[in-house]
Amino acid sequence: MAEYETLEADILVVGGGGAGLRAAIACAEIDPSLSVAVISKVYPMRSHTVAAEGGTAAVIKSNDSLEDHAYDTVSGSDWLADQDAVWAFVKEAPEELIQMEHWGCPWSREPDGSVAVRPFGGMKTERTWFAADKTGFHMLHALFQTSLKYDNVTRYDEWFVTKLLVEDGRCQGVAALELRTGKLRAILGKAVILCTGGAGRIFPFTTNGSIKTGDGMALAYRAGVALKDMEFVQYHPTGLPGTGILITEAARGEGGIMVNKHGDRYLQHYDLGKPLDVHDPNHPQLRQMELGPRDRLSQAFVKEMEKGNTIEGPYGDFIYLDVRHLGEKKINKKIPFVRELAKNYAGIDPVHETIPVRPVVHYMMGGVHTDIETATSLPGLFAIGECACVSINGANRLGSNSLTELLVFGARGGKNAAEFASENAISDKRALEAQARDEGERIVRTFILKQGGTERISTIRDQMTKAMEAGAGIYRTESSLKETWDTLMRLRERFEKIALDDRSNVYNTDLTTALELDFMLDVAASVAFSALERKESRGSHQRTDYPDRDDAKYLNHTLVYRTEAGPRVEYQDVVITKWPPAERTYGKK
Ligand SMILES: Cc1cc2nc3c(=O)[nH]c(=O)nc-3n(C[C@H](O)[C@H](O)[C@H](O)COP(=O)(O)OP(=O)(O)OC[C@H]3O[C@@H](n4cnc5c(N)ncnc54)[C@H](O)[C@@H]3O)c2cc1C
Repeated sequence: MAEYETLEADILVVGGGGAGLRAAIACAEIDPSLSVAVISKVYPMRSHTVAAEGGTAAVIKSNDSLEDHAYDTVSGSDWLADQDAVWAFVKEAPEELIQMEHWGCPWSREPDGSVAVRPFGGMKTERTWFAADKTGFHMLHALFQTSLKYDNVTRYDEWFVTKLLVEDGRCQGVAALELRTGKLRAILGKAVILCTGGAGRIFPFTTNGSIKTGDGMALAYRAGVALKDMEFVQYHPTGLPGTGILITEAARGEGGIMVNKHGDRYLQHYDLGKPLDVHDPNHPQLRQMELGPRDRLSQAFVKEMEKGNTIEGPYGDFIYLDVRHLGEKKINKKIPFVRELAKNYAGIDPVHETIPVRPVVHYMMGGVHTDIETATSLPGLFAIGECACVSINGANRLGSNSLTELLVFGARGGKNAAEFASENAISDKRALEAQARDEGERIVRTFILKQGGTERISTIRDQMTKAMEAGAGIYRTESSLKETWDTLMRLRERFEKIALDDRSNVYNTDLTTALELDFMLDVAASVAFSALERKESRGSHQRTDYPDRDDAKYLNHTLVYRTEAGPRVEYQDVVITKWPPAERTYGKK
């Protein structure tokens, strides 16, 4: 890692998932004279967006309205979403999805040829577009292929960003490790867009791919930018025990039901949306209690477990998802991937058997604090997608809103970053290069050359994820969160003593795993700290010691800053434009 070489582009997009590619296309389209670099630690098609199954929400049918989509999103967020951002989101969503079709995304169709939509949790009408149950796969392919059209987009695949370069109060580049050679380089840019995805891997059971380690959140946090609403972590009620592999909400959208060990459709005993009073069982408007929002469903699972109604398994308790009544033909047509996953990873065929499922961590509502234009408080730094918090998701994201979020804010953010890049220049190349050199030396010193380390990466990671599940999981209390916080602080100290087995330069995954753990420890701490400070229950943040929502005190966003003395929290009012806080009700339209 001795050589340094400086690369440059007008705009750097960190991340090649849905947000990154959409933003890169927007930059490239707006001004062909701007150069755009897409830097990704994995080949773009391996980004987590590819794993999205169920669908992506936007108003398209005549019985739907932007107003309804916005209201469902605000109410689903437990009134913590900013309503100006939500309105921009629902308004720009349909044109983005139509644009995706023009770029080659094969949306599933109704028999009459119109775009098919399916119901999704917390949405009071069908508005989730899909491409069978491989929506993310098709969207990412369409975006990737489109990005290839632009000569001004250059890709840096398998480059790992370790630091943001900040000079003169502006973000002007990144330090990135070229994984193939082990060289650390400065990549300078007039604007930097973080599109690095979520951080589900700070928990033990998650649907998230192993690369979702919160890198971008930690990068911004370390550069002095606040992380917003980090206490809000979404559990998905139907992951496979053990692996955490997602059984998409589409399985319930298509009519799947959840039953406990007595065969009881237990959700009927909880307040999360009883079926609508529709008498025709085939009525398209029929809402099912299984389509209540994810936070409520996951909480109901814990209550069932406490009552002894769940089934004990080698990976903890589970319940069943039953889709048998849908029949083989419908399962094969609408949710073929569910069948494939259940067969391959649980050894059961859902056409004939019930699928064991449990809540698993799925999505981070919180992330890098941005305004509605995706700008952070650090000039030149933008953030989009799951790593960011605009916020449209508030305390609980509605399933199928996040893929759309990547497109809407990807397009907005790309445009804004391009504008910023046109108006600003690299101010001090030498100083930026010196920062990258220091970063290279830090990595060599801390990880490669260090002798006498005694701690294992995997041990610290295991203890971190267990502490998060135990103290900062579906239900939390002051004492459980304090314990998690203390454990995280001890693990941070122990991290200083880690030993790497591999000290080579080429594809050193031992090194990247250590760097990711370093990021995750920061992100996990920000979650635990923000959760400790929020003394109320709202959406996915349930404090059994403060069981009620407290609008008088907490109708605001948590902003957590990293300081030498530990995290510091500030609050920012939620933007309410149209829908004053109310009770969340489901099943009524
Ligand atoms: C199994 C699963 C199913 C889902 N299904 C749906 C669904 O049906 N509908 C829906 O709306 N949402 C769904 N979601 C959520 C949604 O898919 C994600 O929130 C979204 O795809 C995230 O996109 P992104 O572009 O922000 O990040 P990602 O797609 O995760 O991409 C992150 C990118 O950042 C890069 N990166 C990260 N760190 C670094 C670094 N240090 N250096 C360089 N590059 C870096 C990675 O290489 C990657 O290219 C699902 C999520 C999962 C896990």
